[in-house]
Amino acid sequence: MHQLLKKHYWLQIALPVLLASLATWITLHPLVEVSYRTPYLMFFGVIFISSAYGGSRSSIIATVSCVLLSFLFIQPKYQPQSEIFGVANFIFLAEGLLLSGLFRRIEKIQQKLSESEQRFRGIIEKSAEGMLMTDQNGQISYLSPSVNILLGAQSGELVGTSIQSLLHPDERVAFDIQLEQLLKQEISEMEFLTRIKAKSGGWIWIEGTVMDLRKEQSISSLVFQYRDVTNRIELELQKEDFVQITSHELKTPVTSIKGFIQVLKKRHQKEEREQDIKIIERIENQSERLVHLIEDLLDVTRIKNGELPYHFSYLDLTTYLPEVIAAHEAIHQEHTFNFSTFGPALVYADKDRIAQVISNLLNNAIKYSPGKTTVEIKLSLEDGHIKTSITDQGIGIPAAQQERIFERFYRVSTLPKDAVNGLGIGLYISNEIVKRHGGEIAVSSKEGQGSEFWFRLAAG
Ligand code: ADP
Repeated sequence: MHQLLKKHYWLQIALPVLLASLATWITLHPLVEVSYRTPYLMFFGVIFISSAYGGSRSSIIATVSCVLLSFLFIQPKYQPQSEIFGVANFIFLAEGLLLSGLFRRIEKIQQKLSESEQRFRGIIEKSAEGMLMTDQNGQISYLSPSVNILLGAQSGELVGTSIQSLLHPDERVAFDIQLEQLLKQEISEMEFLTRIKAKSGGWIWIEGTVMDLRKEQSISSLVFQYRDVTNRIELELQKEDFVQITSHELKTPVTSIKGFIQVLKKRHQKEEREQDIKIIERIENQSERLVHLIEDLLDVTRIKNGELPYHFSYLDLTTYLPEVIAAHEAIHQEHTFNFSTFGPALVYADKDRIAQVISNLLNNAIKYSPGKTTVEIKLSLEDGHIKTSITDQGIGIPAAQQERIFERFYRVSTLPKDAVNGLGIGLYISNEIVKRHGGEIAVSSKEGQGSEFWFRLAAG
């Protein structure tokens, strides 16, 4: 009926006129003749019905028709006080028009609401980002069209299925744990990177966020927003494969170069050729650097695959740290190294891995502190933890990037042009090693004034 009235304007006129005529006829019918004194209840009914189906235009026509018809047919019957009826008619006309004005306003508000809803729906539906809503068990209640396109599904086909059933088994447990945390409000927003099953049977990498909007009355769902990152992840995987294969391939020739250099050095030492020995030592240092670099790259792959081996034992950092520092002192004579401690500092740790962390931090303290500077290495006891801090007087790190420097392959973007080269993996490896020890690592730094890197391990 609504649609019919919308399409045919003449029906918007015909309906109120018809209803008003009917009401007038009933009022004047001999059986109910007594009601001619009070036709207005029916007339208001005519206005409401007309406005409900034909909108405010119909309600105006209804008002005018009722007034005209009652003026023409009812008023003459209203003797002897027909003037009173005339006044009542006039009041009814004013009330009817007032009501119609009210209906018009409601119509306008409704129109605005539906326009804004359509605009937002359009944005969501046309957006390349996927959006879906689920209940707290992960059962899907809404999918934006881009999700259907992405997964190759028909519209509505996936409504009612659980989001978990679409996820790759390798990522499902981690996803469920995070979702649980979100539902318990331990985290306010959940970020995820996971594979999702397409209709074709293939897997698509998606990255996004989940918001718990169950308390928002108009939404009362979990809202997932995500984008397809398959190309990026595939490129990253290719990059990782490339790094892994090349570092494996490089390791063997570099190790044998190192071996041959030592043979060469011994021969020259026998013949006491000092000049040549100096050159050979430089080659030796450089090949040593290469070996470290390759080992670091291999460690990144081992960490990713959970294959970095650890051998734990009790270790006193107070006696061990000076050994590690001495090795650096021998090479970097332009820097001064100050070591201080509070007494025996026993930890349960992997000796070589901890040496790797300290060496990374010392190397950075030297690398990013041009000129003759001092590096402070301090051991202290803090809440049952042994804290090792390494403070330099170098270039420092901008506050906004301090959190990111522990990410894989991340280097500060404002590094000076002549800064030493690096791969941005030393801190990533150090962070992983400290985490594996149940400890924490952090930095506090001021640009241009130096940095303090520290890590804490439980006292043994
Ligand atoms: P690399 O030194 O090989 O680039 P790292 O993972 O060891 O990689 O360090 C990541 C980044 O953090 C560095 O590129 C550098 O920008 C910054 N950084 C690390 N240590 C220091 C430091 N002591 N002073 C200033 N910047 C540092």
